[in-house]
Amino acid sequence: MNRLEHLRAALDKLDGGHLRRTRRNIEGPCSPHVVIDGRTFTAFCSNDYLGLAGDPRLAEALAEGARQWGTGAGASHLISGHYLVQHTLEQRLADFVRRERALVFSSGFMANTGIIPALAGRGDAIFADRLNHASLIDGMLLSRADIHRIPHLDTAALERQLAASTAKTKLIISDSVFSMDGDIAPLRELMTLAQRFDAWLLIDDAHGFGVLGPQGRGAPAEADIDDWRLIQMGTLSKAAGVSGAFVAGDPTVIEWLMQKARTYLFTTGSPPALAQALLASIDLIEAGFDRRAHLAALIERLTKGLAQERWRLLPSRTPIQPLIVGDNATALALGAALMEEGLWVPAIRPPTVPVGSARLRITLSAAHTLADVDRLVEAIDRLEKTL
Ligand code: PMP
Repeated sequence: MNRLEHLRAALDKLDGGHLRRTRRNIEGPCSPHVVIDGRTFTAFCSNDYLGLAGDPRLAEALAEGARQWGTGAGASHLISGHYLVQHTLEQRLADFVRRERALVFSSGFMANTGIIPALAGRGDAIFADRLNHASLIDGMLLSRADIHRIPHLDTAALERQLAASTAKTKLIISDSVFSMDGDIAPLRELMTLAQRFDAWLLIDDAHGFGVLGPQGRGAPAEADIDDWRLIQMGTLSKAAGVSGAFVAGDPTVIEWLMQKARTYLFTTGSPPALAQALLASIDLIEAGFDRRAHLAALIERLTKGLAQERWRLLPSRTPIQPLIVGDNATALALGAALMEEGLWVPAIRPPTVPVGSARLRITLSAAHTLADVDRLVEAIDRLEKTL
């Protein structure tokens, strides 16, 4: 076999394990009601929790941003690719999450893979929840620090490993809301441990920002933790409905990250027009009480409705509501059967989730209606008996 045939065989193996992924071409803006190949689907797939990604006000702010700032940044931020509107956005974000300074990255993946190696290196120790997002895992690997993977949400195990560590620099890393499970890390306990063992605490609030806490200020605000050790990262691509990510914290830490995070230094600045859209988005998040209340009503409707025996929802109070199916083939068959009925829910399989825990990852958005949720519940109820 030549190298190309090896790749073909590896792709065939993915097919054999029901692991090959495909894409669908959506014919319009992000919305719970999408058109694919001319057919309409009700989608429960996006992380657009507040329904802002398709909001015409943000599209208008982006268009106005493009008229004012053009399309490209032209250079990396520290050369000549940083614009006043991006500076304004960083100040707005810092004020919004009540931290002193913020730095905006082009994506959440880039933020995590830049922040971690800037904070920890060879001989340092990282303590990370086993279910952390892939970008946090890759950031740890890039750092070359010693990695301690902690059983999910097990603060007693974390405490033992911290106590046993002799590393000078320690870094605890956790998602706030776990992206495939929807549960929430015990942020106050993590903060207490960080203080006790003199460690940094990096919290990835990708799925909390905009949704949790007063005015949607995020999971750290909800847990009411604030300390120079807390480095909070949030994405601007999920509830905020645009693109990018930020890290917020103590000004010295943020200055250090600006000097050292390679995914900030060596990439072209993101288009400044995005910052204009994001300023409008933060205003909508801040004033989004009704959206968050509606989202809470949708979550309640779904969790009350889906109380079956065979497939179970994981306990979650967030818009991420995973229905555990088990094996890959059944998860795919259920996804396909729902799709037949015009309901689109992604089947998530290993390696994204542990083997044997294939699931439908149902995500809710404030743009859903209660009737959308009722339709999904009714279809899953029926398929549970017939599939
Ligand atoms: N962290 C978490 C927890 C995520 O779920 C994601 C995206 N799925 C990211 C980081 C990466 O963010 P982005 O999509 O902006 O690159």
